[in-house]
Amino acid sequence: MNNAYLSLGSNIGNRLEHLQQAVQLLNEHPSINVSIVSSVYETDPVGLTEQAKFLNIVVKLSTTLEATELLSVCQSIENKLGRMRKIRWGPRTVDLDILLYNESHIQLENLIIPHICMQERAFVLVPLVEINKDVKNPITGTLYREELAIKEDGINLWKKIGRVEEFLRQD
Ligand code: ATP
Ligand code: CA
Ligand code: CA
Repeated sequence: MNNAYLSLGSNIGNRLEHLQQAVQLLNEHPSINVSIVSSVYETDPVGLTEQAKFLNIVVKLSTTLEATELLSVCQSIENKLGRMRKIRWGPRTVDLDILLYNESHIQLENLIIPHICMQERAFVLVPLVEINKDVKNPITGTLYREELAIKEDGINLWKKIGRVEEFLRQD
């Protein structure tokens, strides 16, 4: 069994519902079990800053899928939920990024793990560290909570979550 952490974000329409639908679709996949969902954070957009605020979560899952297969599932969920793949860093109904896959270091043309910018993104690190404060960068061995210490600006707790079922029931 493989363990992975995913970052999910939405900044269009009913943002919470998009995140819930994405987690539900992940969980309905026969080879994926979502075991932990972080609290929901409202975050200022980075990169392209003239757009609506995001809701972000991180989930932990176990899967028998290979990392590239997991990426395909993530992309099919993005497509199903109506993401228009136009502008990088632009508005989106839902974005699913694979942060970590076991302790793997993967460098393929279409898949880089650990996710390339994660250690610089507070909107990723805050929910990641919430669900596992001991998780480390598998390449450098640095604890992600130590990367975080400096930059929690623009990240606000929006809904406190305890369990996956609780997350899926929120409205
Ligand atoms: P960023 O990657 O900076 O968060 P983005 O999420 O807006 O930006 P996308 O348009 O969603 O970028 O994805 C661009 C490409 O990134 C995808 O086609 C995918 O193949 C590639 N990619 C590379 N590594 C990963 C990863 N770990 N998780 C998801 N996609 C990845
Ligand atoms: Ca992204
Ligand atoms: Ca992405």
